[in-house]
Amino acid sequence: MEKDEEQKRIEGDIEGLTSDCKRLEGLNALITGGSQGIGRRIALEFANEGADVAINDLSSQKEKANLVAQYIEGELGRDTWIAEGDVSDLDDMKKVREQVEENFGTIDILINNAGINRDSLFFKMEKEDWDKVLSVNLDGVFNTTKAFLDHVRESDQGRIINMSSVIGESGNIGQANYASSKAGMIGFTKALAREVVRDDVTVNAVAPGFVATRMVEDIPEKVKEKIIAQIPFGRFAEPREVARTVCFLASNDASYITGEVIRMNGGYYM
Ligand code: NAD
Repeated sequence: MEKDEEQKRIEGDIEGLTSDCKRLEGLNALITGGSQGIGRRIALEFANEGADVAINDLSSQKEKANLVAQYIEGELGRDTWIAEGDVSDLDDMKKVREQVEENFGTIDILINNAGINRDSLFFKMEKEDWDKVLSVNLDGVFNTTKAFLDHVRESDQGRIINMSSVIGESGNIGQANYASSKAGMIGFTKALAREVVRDDVTVNAVAPGFVATRMVEDIPEKVKEKIIAQIPFGRFAEPREVARTVCFLASNDASYITGEVIRMNGGYYM
């Protein structure tokens, strides 16, 4: 049942691939949290643009990651590798790097996409929920970038793209931990962009508003209606819209853009 549902989602994604440019030909990308949602869509769009794609995710996501890999190889004709590992664990990410080097190659484009939320009002928030969100969303960016930065620096088209969120700029009730992690990613993006600009590596963040993935599907219907009422576009973003922006930042068309935060929130926060 779960697998059929996943298959339908991926088939919908594949049908929706529109670009016939091959802007990422000859490049290798690693996408953390790449087996579902926004990460999966980025993986498919990248493969469609000619990149070979390593998919990182937790071991519990193995089946979903396999399915994405199957479509990348079968339908889109690109190489892929499943790089199982927990981004919040530096040793895991070092092992992922070794496996990627052995079985896939070096990484030109790193997409720090893996992320979680554990929402509650701050006065009820447990330290554990704070630590968990910060360790995946922010330490995860440190660990993965630490493991792969020298690959990216050696590339002729080195790119690091961090998946932040509008919440990192606007704040949100019940999301002190999530907002802090996503704001932290913006600071990280700007600092690292300055450090690696001489290596021709660009570092940018994308800050989507609410995107129609499982993370948002889980929000109660009444709350969803209230959120949509505050979005001038009157709808959530599609994962495709976020993934296309990430493709642009990864491409040579964005060669002079660094240290930027690309907001894409349908006018929710300007
Ligand atoms: P999702 O929950 O559908 O996917 C997240 C993926 O990350 C999953 O595959 C999950 O297994 C993986 N992941 C979680 N913890 C991990 C870990 N420790 N190590 C490796 N992988 C891990 O979420 P999504 O909606 O696709 O979100 C993707 C990113 O976009 C997240 O960083 C999220 O914060 C951000 N974002 C989402 C929205 C939205 O509305 N959906 C809006 C703005 C930003």
